[in-house]
Amino acid sequence: MRAADIQNDLTDVLVTEEQIREKLDEIAAQVAEDYAGKELLLVGVLKGAIMVMADFARALPMHAPMDWMAVSSYGASTKSSGVVQIRKDLDTPLAGKHVLIVEDIIDSGLTLSWLLENFESRGAASIEVFSLLRKPDAAKVEVPCKYVGFDIPNDFVVGYGLDYAERYRNLRDVAVLAPHVYN
Ligand code: 5GP
Ligand code: MG
Ligand code: MG
Repeated sequence: MRAADIQNDLTDVLVTEEQIREKLDEIAAQVAEDYAGKELLLVGVLKGAIMVMADFARALPMHAPMDWMAVSSYGASTKSSGVVQIRKDLDTPLAGKHVLIVEDIIDSGLTLSWLLENFESRGAASIEVFSLLRKPDAAKVEVPCKYVGFDIPNDFVVGYGLDYAERYRNLRDVAVLAPHVYN
């Protein structure tokens, strides 16, 4: 597939590679300050968070071990049901760790709210959330998210880790997927 064909699948670019890089530097500086002297553990949620984790971790001027969780929502609906199944659990025990969950996007908030509840019982010293993107108009539950990159409109977006049918994760920017792709 040619690059021009991929461009035809997208409408607006909402966040550029450059804007992401600047924002990650800003948030990394804040996190380094907030977690100075603490044992930080970054927890990424596969697969959407791979790009943001890779760039964010490299922007952090401190030790930042990573662990990964893979979850999926049950149900026939394309929308998040809030009923979550663990596909891959963490390798690391959370006891005593200052956990920062790294997410690509908060849409309904249901997945993250389930994850936070699940983590509460594992004895972490603290649990906070960093999400690169958030759709305030799509929220079904309030999720306490300490660090947010960009609030975006309630459109289906792809790129920078976010997929549609496993495609578009490798785009450098975050863009709105054109309706002709899924209609
Ligand atoms: P939530 O439980 O907050 O509704 O969303 C859970 C997951 O749905 C996100 O982590 C993400 O993987 C996926 N998701 C939500 N909104 C979008 C979107 O606009 N584009 C893509 N590609 N995935 C999304
Ligand atoms: Mg995600
Ligand atoms: Mg997906």
